[in-house]
Amino acid sequence: MLALVVHEPGRIEVTQVPEPTPGPGEVVVKVAACGICGTDLHIVDGDYHAEYPAIPGHEMAGTIVNAGEAQGLAAGDRVAVNPNIYCHACRMCRRGMPHLCESATAVGVTRPGGFAELCAMPAQQCLPLPEGVSFRNGALMEPLSCCLHGLAVLAPRPGDRVAILGAGTVGLMMTQLVRLHGGAPIVVSDPDAGKRALAERLGADATVDPAAADPREAIFDALGGRADFVLEAAGLPQTAALALELVGPGGRVLQFGVCPEGTEVPMRPRQLFRDEITIAGAYTNPFTDDRALALLANGRIDTKPLVSDEFALADAEQALARAREADSFKVQVRPGG
Ligand SMILES: [Zn+2]
Ligand SMILES: [Zn+2]
Repeated sequence: MLALVVHEPGRIEVTQVPEPTPGPGEVVVKVAACGICGTDLHIVDGDYHAEYPAIPGHEMAGTIVNAGEAQGLAAGDRVAVNPNIYCHACRMCRRGMPHLCESATAVGVTRPGGFAELCAMPAQQCLPLPEGVSFRNGALMEPLSCCLHGLAVLAPRPGDRVAILGAGTVGLMMTQLVRLHGGAPIVVSDPDAGKRALAERLGADATVDPAAADPREAIFDALGGRADFVLEAAGLPQTAALALELVGPGGRVLQFGVCPEGTEVPMRPRQLFRDEITIAGAYTNPFTDDRALALLANGRIDTKPLVSDEFALADAEQALARAREADSFKVQVRPGG
């Protein structure tokens, strides 16, 4: 079968590889759509805990072609995939935090992923797609479920002044979710004019170009003061630092973007004390798949503008290059057309 293989960091090739053989309890999915995530680019660049040679791709939807012994799944079922596999036996799993599993594995990270015609995985990673949810939207379940976990860790309350830093796919999903949470006003900051325009269409009350002016003052002006809730969705050292400068008394900061390993930003403990600031991180998507599918099935999230480009699997290298361009949103590879 055809697959995108990362032989070693920086060396990628679309090539023929053997078809996957499902292990006990595993199914094989014919991949219809697989989104490119920042994590995939980190794997290509060698800045992630992947095992090489790797077939990346963890945001996928497709059709079961071999259901093995799986209970409740059959060949022909349309499914979305949760890529994160937990051991259910380690200390963190036993403490109810399986996403922090000490021996977690992941489809498309530590085992072959969805930039391929076929992908094998444990049956429980597959969630039947509700009727009316396309493969394209099914492949958005994973990033949306990660956003939902972020907001399960820390969420704005109705009437909170919200600043969202970064208007990529995640920033725009978060803008819509924060709108559902009642954030008011919601100010989104992004250097790309197209992304700012889209953020306004999808629920931002105002947008700010962080490159054009002093972003701090511009965001304060748009919010009418300091933020009650700041969501960092850019994964940049400067936005991670900015988030701590924007937050006001009683405020909360959710660090959601994936900053480069080793990033350090200044923190003022006195401000944390005096203003009673809460800072939190959120990792992956425990127990949020069903809610993500419910939002997709009921049209609560406008996904139409979130996928900017679709590429055939044979053109997966161009797809990765396109995903690195500042004006792209979610780029999807469509192995199954
Ligand atoms: Zn991802
Ligand atoms: Zn575990």
